[in-house]
Amino acid sequence: MPANTISLSYIEIPPKPFVLPAAVRSLSTKSYNIDMQFIDSHAHLNDPAFDADREELLSRTLPQAGISHSIEIGCSPEEWQPALELASRYPALVHAVLGVHPEYACKTTSTHLQELAALLPDPRNVAVGEIGLDYTCFEYTDKETQQKTFSQMLALANQTQKPVVLHVRRIGEDYAAYEDTFYALKHEWKGSSVTAHPGVLHCFCARYEEAKRALDMGLLLGLNGCFSYKKNEYIREAVKKAGADKIILETDCPYLSPQGKRGQRNDPANIPLIGQFVADYLNIPLEALAEITTRNTKALYGLS
Ligand SMILES: [Zn+2]
Repeated sequence: MPANTISLSYIEIPPKPFVLPAAVRSLSTKSYNIDMQFIDSHAHLNDPAFDADREELLSRTLPQAGISHSIEIGCSPEEWQPALELASRYPALVHAVLGVHPEYACKTTSTHLQELAALLPDPRNVAVGEIGLDYTCFEYTDKETQQKTFSQMLALANQTQKPVVLHVRRIGEDYAAYEDTFYALKHEWKGSSVTAHPGVLHCFCARYEEAKRALDMGLLLGLNGCFSYKKNEYIREAVKKAGADKIILETDCPYLSPQGKRGQRNDPANIPLIGQFVADYLNIPLEALAEITTRNTKALYGLS
């Protein structure tokens, strides 16, 4: 090394501030035309928020944004048939996931459970979900009913050998909802041997501790707009430790729009933007993230 050259190897480069990536900041959803392929692994396109432009989104906007598949979650008895019907109308693009969300557990009867058992093997349905424990919604369904319904859902997943889409929500810093979810999975769930991944922890919003327990069970982590919110550094750190191989992308639309679009309706065309946040944070090209998450989502749901 020449004498007048100073080695910079000891200088610590400060971490990049987490801001909306410049490359995507100016993109409008409709002009986002790329060669990369993405999947929205968790959407609610049958929500009334899409009544005015659902067909436009599915037939034009999503294909233009590089969205090859959108997984429609039907998580209450009234949503099961509409989810399957959407999959019938867009057979290449939409697949359904059926189950009982913990919030609706108290409204679910034994007749509903029989109906669900009959619908789950339908080839348009690719998983059981979203199911789990939500300790923020006891005003709708108490803890015991949630736990009972979750057990019934796990029994149906065992019976049909479908992967599970898990919804877990905690109260503040109390992680009991995760603790109880992992306990139920460990004791009551056999895991799907049909698909390469037995399930996903949708809307991953926890620490590495919970991520690690999920990964040890073979679960993937579903990342959405929450990953991009400024205050959620702990989620980003957990995901960085977990690694890109363990993640898939989702919107949970119409909710949880990514940073920069908060307050607006979310839709699956925002998946490349969510992907850009994740790729920037993990320091990998968006193309690589698109490929990995598409492969993971196809392996989870058994898509071709
Ligand atoms: Zn959802």
